[in-house]
Amino acid sequence: MTSTTEIRTGLRPTRIEVDLGAIRHNVARFREVAGTDVCAVVKANGYGHGAVPVARAALDAGASWLAVALVEEGLELRQAGIDAPILVLSEPPIAAIPYLLEAELTPTVYRAPFLATLDAAGHARGTPVDIHLKADTGMARVGIPEADWSARLHQAATARGVRVTAVQTHLARADEPDAPTTSEQMEVLDRFLAEAAKLGIRPDLIHASNSAGSLLHDRARRTMLRPGIGIYGLSPGPEVDAAVHGLEPALRLVSEVGFAKYVAAGTPVSYGHHWSAPHAGWIATVPVGYADGVPRALSNKVEVLHGGRRCLIVGRVCMDQTLVWCDDAEPHVGDPVVLLGAQGDDRIRVEEWAAAADTITYEIVTQLTARVPRHHYG
Ligand SMILES: *Cc1c(COP(=O)(O)O)cnc(C)c1O
Repeated sequence: MTSTTEIRTGLRPTRIEVDLGAIRHNVARFREVAGTDVCAVVKANGYGHGAVPVARAALDAGASWLAVALVEEGLELRQAGIDAPILVLSEPPIAAIPYLLEAELTPTVYRAPFLATLDAAGHARGTPVDIHLKADTGMARVGIPEADWSARLHQAATARGVRVTAVQTHLARADEPDAPTTSEQMEVLDRFLAEAAKLGIRPDLIHASNSAGSLLHDRARRTMLRPGIGIYGLSPGPEVDAAVHGLEPALRLVSEVGFAKYVAAGTPVSYGHHWSAPHAGWIATVPVGYADGVPRALSNKVEVLHGGRRCLIVGRVCMDQTLVWCDDAEPHVGDPVVLLGAQGDDRIRVEEWAAAADTITYEIVTQLTARVPRHHYG
């Protein structure tokens, strides 16, 4: 018998199930696409899927690198015993350098003070620190801006405490197949590489492609891919369908009917009474809400799977409860309800939620909260 102090989650039926077989399949797809190295991006708790199990599955499927956004996220992987190379995708704060070195994480670098501090640290310990220099080629978010290329490349070329093992950039519009931006960015990257080569910087790795870049733009593939959303089987945007590229969604969000009732025609339901029963019928209440990551914007917009049928979410999504219109099919407490993923032959796709909530798949899965326990299988 588990003591009450050990029970934190799992008493209610709401849970996330992650198919690690799908993750392995998707990583293998990216390896086939280009025949290059794959760096599997597992930032933000593996896009909500659980960073450590996803990282292990990606490595099993042949990924040679992992990437995270934060030093803290890299430390979590190291503490779980993962010893593969780990790239930190943005330059960390200078105060994070001791942790970075201790855990042997590889930083992305673009600022002079960070590079100087790392150089000194590499000198002090007697072995150079491997870095991935990042050029801004048109995303204008982070990376060395063109005006600073020369100064930063000189600094890197003369620093004895660091070694530039990779050059990287990031694409702004890779999910738009017809936008010229991606090939323009590749021309800028080639100019950066030429300038680096003149100073003797010849990196082993060159990487530029997120999932959309990897799938759609062969010129952007270079020597390593950095897919994130695609390894979870999800589409980067409305113009790139993950399913068309043979990717399989890994995540299901499931619950059960917690309460059922028959309502008369015209009965208004939930906060604000924004929906009323069109005729007499059954309502199921499901113990999952916006505090679990079901966007309130989905009220009256998307369906769940119950008993092999699609049933509309009706009335306002609440913090801990969601109401579903079952019409004439009587729901029973304990019936399985699938909010995301497959039941039988049908599937509710994250892409449906993203479209209905006017957002992208990334935001849907990263906002599934820590309150929902993750179960991994496969
Ligand atoms: C998040 C991220 C990726 C992965 O992008 P997806 O669109 O999820 O494939 C790759 N590179 C960088 C720099 C990122 O921040």
